[in-house]
Amino acid sequence: MIHVDTIKNGLVIDHIRAGSGPRIFSWLGLDKADFSVAMIMNVPSKTHGKKDIIKIDSIISIDYSVLGFIDPNITINVVVEERITRKINLTLPDRVENIIACKNPRCITSTEKYITHVFTLVDKKRAEYCCEYCDELYRAGIGEVF
Ligand SMILES: [Zn+2]
Repeated sequence: MIHVDTIKNGLVIDHIRAGSGPRIFSWLGLDKADFSVAMIMNVPSKTHGKKDIIKIDSIISIDYSVLGFIDPNITINVVVEERITRKINLTLPDRVENIIACKNPRCITSTEKYITHVFTLVDKKRAEYCCEYCDELYRAGIGEVF
């Protein structure tokens, strides 16, 4: 059981897939944070085997659709005055822009650098996305974000 008593006002990012914590930590820019942050790795979890947790002692703004794309199983607890006031369950976004790049070398986004990389969700169960320009498939949650 993780206690949030070390956080006064902030966020606890919970149920991160074990091993993904460091990537999310750096994606959020927490390595440069001037407030308290903590990452706890390989915490035993009843539902997911093992998980990583990130505690942030500041209410930072997070693009939840990108975070949901990285790992839709994440839960975010919003802590205000040392109490959890809100739980946010992330989901896979229907559409992502400039989060991943299309791998198809013949795709227009590979040759024309100014074009927005757009992927839309085509199979929620398989977390599969499809490039808007060439139909190249991409599976979310494998961590290759910009
Ligand atoms: Zn493409």
